[in-house]
Amino acid sequence: MVSGVVRREEIVVPGDRVAVVEEFEPKYGFYEDLGIVRSSMVGYPVFDMDKRIVYIEKTLCRYPLPKPGDNVYCLVYEVSDRIAFAHILKVVGRSKVFQPPFTGILHISRLKKIKADNMRDIVKPGDNIYASIVSYCNNVYHLTISGPGFGVILARCPYCGSILERKEQSLVCVRCNVTEQRRISKYYGNFKVV
Ligand SMILES: [Zn+2]
Repeated sequence: MVSGVVRREEIVVPGDRVAVVEEFEPKYGFYEDLGIVRSSMVGYPVFDMDKRIVYIEKTLCRYPLPKPGDNVYCLVYEVSDRIAFAHILKVVGRSKVFQPPFTGILHISRLKKIKADNMRDIVKPGDNIYASIVSYCNNVYHLTISGPGFGVILARCPYCGSILERKEQSLVCVRCNVTEQRRISKYYGNFKVV
């Protein structure tokens, strides 16, 4: 039997299921929802096999801030016709999770190679995206998802919350039979946030 403390290398975001309460008691950063242990924060889950508890690791050491050129993992939280706002949660490849997150803006004019007239056909609130920082001014990071690999890496059905499946250039919910348009990353569904 496994004992000791196991730190999982994959990041969790609010709502993610990590265990059932019979396995692990939710502590810092987790809550119980109908017997399921879900995350209420962004971070790396730590499973204490002896105490049977799970918690989010608090990172105390200092890390450099994100900077132009960094590739980042973000959660979209607001979208209008021409602009989208996202929380920058971490630089991909660096362990520090930004808590609270930084603000990133995605503007449609930066997406010249992507054929879409409306930002809502590119990203939607709740989407997990892989983006690149192009500049930083007025306390805001400007992002792009042009370029290979960038775009939506995970999205949920707006009706039932299931993870959408990729079908060619669209995303579909097999339960609700709806099709959603996005700028989809080639890593969609198998992007490992580390
Ligand atoms: Zn659905």
